[in-house]
Amino acid sequence: MLGAIEAGGTKIICAIADENNVTEIIDEEIIETGDPTRNVEAIIQFFTAHPVQAIGVGSFGPIDVDRHSETYGYITNTPKSGWKNFDFLGALKKLAVPIYWTTDVNAAAFGEMAYGAARQTKNSVYLTVGTGVGGGVILNNEILPGKKHLEIGHISIARRSGDSFEGVCPYHDDCLEGLVSGPAIYKRTGIKGTEIGPEDAVWDTVAYYLAESCVNYALSFAPEVIVLGGGVMHQKQLFPFIRNYYLQVMNEYMSVADLESFIVHSELNNRAGIIGGLALAKKVLGGE
Ligand code: ADP
Ligand code: ZN
Repeated sequence: MLGAIEAGGTKIICAIADENNVTEIIDEEIIETGDPTRNVEAIIQFFTAHPVQAIGVGSFGPIDVDRHSETYGYITNTPKSGWKNFDFLGALKKLAVPIYWTTDVNAAAFGEMAYGAARQTKNSVYLTVGTGVGGGVILNNEILPGKKHLEIGHISIARRSGDSFEGVCPYHDDCLEGLVSGPAIYKRTGIKGTEIGPEDAVWDTVAYYLAESCVNYALSFAPEVIVLGGGVMHQKQLFPFIRNYYLQVMNEYMSVADLESFIVHSELNNRAGIIGGLALAKKVLGGE
């Protein structure tokens, strides 16, 4: 049996699945994110009742992923009460099983690669566009590691002429998250994304900036596929516009055989993170 933990800002999901049927979750529990010590107690209770051989953890961040760091496994700089500098991985070690530790979006990227929209490929980029924008890069079937985890939602985006929207990122005036996240769309229009019709002009702008980001990811990582997920991407009409603007911005510099299968929607949707966690548990066990 394998376990996964997807720790988000509002809820923590614990799940188990059979090693030979990772996408079929057998049991799961949702814990409201609150006091970290109590949350960890609830997690340990779940996995005591449902013993597993390994666990994949995808956590909200920022987190320390540097194995050589003294604070490896910590949540670092979050404004979330009680979680700042919390040794999350250390607290989970009580379970005494091998644990794969990574970000929520890296776990989702791995899930899409193992069982979702990127499963035919070795190299992919996953981006989620929701309350925030973030993602992970898979190179040769592995999460691209770094001294720190990537933050591909905060890349700089060149403004379209005439767009003076101030953005919503507190750190950057012109980053992707500041321009296309759900809160950015809300700030720009005064209407929640879920309530904006598919014909609204805002989607054209969102598609253009997402296309720019896809060009940057293509040039930086040479993926076989770019998988887009998260709440905002439920606006399926965005995809043809993103692909068209992608061609325009790329301007034939780097070609792709088939754009329709290059920029695609997430297949695992909101299950990407937890299934990715299970896939990472399998990996840590040596099964894959
Ligand atoms: P989170 O990022 O919080 O984990 P989501 O990926 O669902 O969760 O993202 C939530 C954000 O996406 C909100 O800002 C919401 O307004 C926006 N959103 C959710 N569904 C849609 C939709 N169908 N169309 C446009 N925006 C949406
Ligand atoms: Zn930013």
